[in-house]
Amino acid sequence: MAIPRFLCDEMLERLGRWLRAAGYDTAIATPGSDDRELVDQAREEERWMVTRDRHLARFRNGDGRIVLLESNDTPGLAAELSERFHIDWLRRPFSRCLDCNTPLRPATPEQGERVPRTARAFSSEAWYCPTCDKVYWPGSHVRRMRHTLENFAHRQWVVAGD
Ligand SMILES: [Zn+2]
Repeated sequence: MAIPRFLCDEMLERLGRWLRAAGYDTAIATPGSDDRELVDQAREEERWMVTRDRHLARFRNGDGRIVLLESNDTPGLAAELSERFHIDWLRRPFSRCLDCNTPLRPATPEQGERVPRTARAFSSEAWYCPTCDKVYWPGSHVRRMRHTLENFAHRQWVVAGD
């Protein structure tokens, strides 16, 4: 099965950023996009449109590409999506920019210079987003995020074994 690609509506931005953190190709709706634009974007880019909006989910040109979620919190949404798509939350952690979805590259030594000295003491690993010109490194924030991804992955396992 092809690896699913997603388009999260504006309200599901947080879920979208977690999908990016896990390595899934995920677009997040530009604020103010109307329903038709979103459905068109999902079709053109071959993405699953993920929403909590029942009205949008009934959109007649959705081509069955619309996924309606019902949970009110991010872990619940993550679990719902996992059941439907067998999301592997540890697929390729931190391989995409959280802000813009661009695949990250290993940082050059020059880009690595931008990592705070205290973080460099622990690891020389760093990644770079060529679109945002942003450098990521495995600091405490990334460790906390990885922990959350592990929790999502674990919940999926519990659901699968149920
Ligand atoms: Zn970026």
